[in-house]
Amino acid sequence: MKKYTFALSLVLFPCLAVAAQITAIKAGKIVDPATGTVTSNQIILVEGTDITAVGPNVQIPAGAKVIDLSKQVVIPGMMDAHAHLCMNTQHKRDGGRYYFTTLLDSNAKRAIQGAVNARSMLDYGFTAVRDIGNEGNYACVEVRRSINEGLIDGPLLITAGRIIAPYGGQFQLQPDKQNLAEPEYFFADTRDEIRKAIRQNLHYGATVIKLVIDDQRYIYSVDDIKFAIEEAHAAGVKLAAHAWTAQGALNAAKAGVDTIEHAVAISDEALAIAKQNNVAIVPIPFTEIDAVLSGTPGGNKETNERWFIDPVQRAHKAGVTLVWGPDVIFNTPEWPRGKLSIDGVDEWKRTGIPNLTILQALTTNPAKALGLEKTRGAIKPGMRADIIAVRDNPLEKIETVKDVVFVMRIGKVYKAN
Ligand SMILES: [Zn+2]
Repeated sequence: MKKYTFALSLVLFPCLAVAAQITAIKAGKIVDPATGTVTSNQIILVEGTDITAVGPNVQIPAGAKVIDLSKQVVIPGMMDAHAHLCMNTQHKRDGGRYYFTTLLDSNAKRAIQGAVNARSMLDYGFTAVRDIGNEGNYACVEVRRSINEGLIDGPLLITAGRIIAPYGGQFQLQPDKQNLAEPEYFFADTRDEIRKAIRQNLHYGATVIKLVIDDQRYIYSVDDIKFAIEEAHAAGVKLAAHAWTAQGALNAAKAGVDTIEHAVAISDEALAIAKQNNVAIVPIPFTEIDAVLSGTPGGNKETNERWFIDPVQRAHKAGVTLVWGPDVIFNTPEWPRGKLSIDGVDEWKRTGIPNLTILQALTTNPAKALGLEKTRGAIKPGMRADIIAVRDNPLEKIETVKDVVFVMRIGKVYKAN
């Protein structure tokens, strides 16, 4: 039987005997986000899925496919650490309340939305995305598996499955309709419930755990959160914590979560603790198009000042790691998901923090926060070939990241123009 299988595999997979495709990228400039170093006229060799050589004098092997980016600036693929690919709120239908979205869209519809959004993220230069829940009944887990199987195109996905929260989660349920938050959330109040929710999520395919700390008056304590972190880390996954209040962010920072999501009301005290405990912050810019579509009078300018620009400036001053994750929950044909995610760079620019810090928030910092730093976030030998190109040097003009002209993910080209 063994011999037969071996012979059959040679017939079915003759490509196994053939060497991996070699691609040589001629890069006009490469920006290293870790150091802010810019190098010119570089050759990047890609063999199969990995980068094997980078330098000005790298020999291009005979038979290599050559990609000319000599007029462009090459950077590592970008990452979005707070996405909801399998949810699309419709402003008119849902009145801005994603509670309605979760009731009105089937799991099948949400998986299709996830597939469309995954492709869009890739088009706009995101080669890794962390989907942070609100994915119905593990719709995004299936999107991830389909990408990994080569069934559909998309970025590397990390998915949270069902969000774990104190009773009621992020909805205001009625006593006679208690089950309407399922399967979006696991309500977990006791330690046993928290542990079981984490284990069920892992069993059904989650690759990160998301806790909502504080959207009710009763919030997770520092010890509750520590307990959840231990359980998640023991299984080799990170823990992301949604915190909308000052107390929620403080508890999350003290417990030492991997990332605090939103952190709109985070205090300086909590930021100092976050710095000490290596906790990264994932702040959310509020886009103008969202304000337009939802009919918010005056737009989102004031909201941004209070909930995005102020906490980002204070976090930067405190030396806390900032990670890109704009929390986009809608898209339209005119406003595809990838565009909405990267358009947030305009608000990041308004914070006045250095362009290099913004570039790090898009690359090296999420690589670390997502546990991908050994394979992603840099263009050097041994890393996966997640490579994109823009028209200008982002250290001088950060908004150039809105105009990605070339996308390669693990050695395969998805966009070139
Ligand atoms: Zn979110």
